[in-house]
Amino acid sequence: MSGIAFEPSRFYDAVVQCLTEMCENYLKAIDVTELYSNGGTPGIECGLCQHRMEVLSATLMDPQPEMS
Ligand SMILES: [Zn+2]
Repeated sequence: MSGIAFEPSRFYDAVVQCLTEMCENYLKAIDVTELYSNGGTPGIECGLCQHRMEVLSATLMDPQPEMS
């Protein structure tokens, strides 16, 4: 778990990493744009191993992207 506090229903620019040792993305910092915070807990999965990724840092987007 990370100590980042997310506001609900907001988009963030984030950096995440995969914590699965066998995965090619293991401990690689990956930029994610428009990470949605849902109810305050953004869910992001590794595109390679499908496991949940850890959020290293996140910046609230300003302005917020248009909802489509
Ligand atoms: Zn992975």
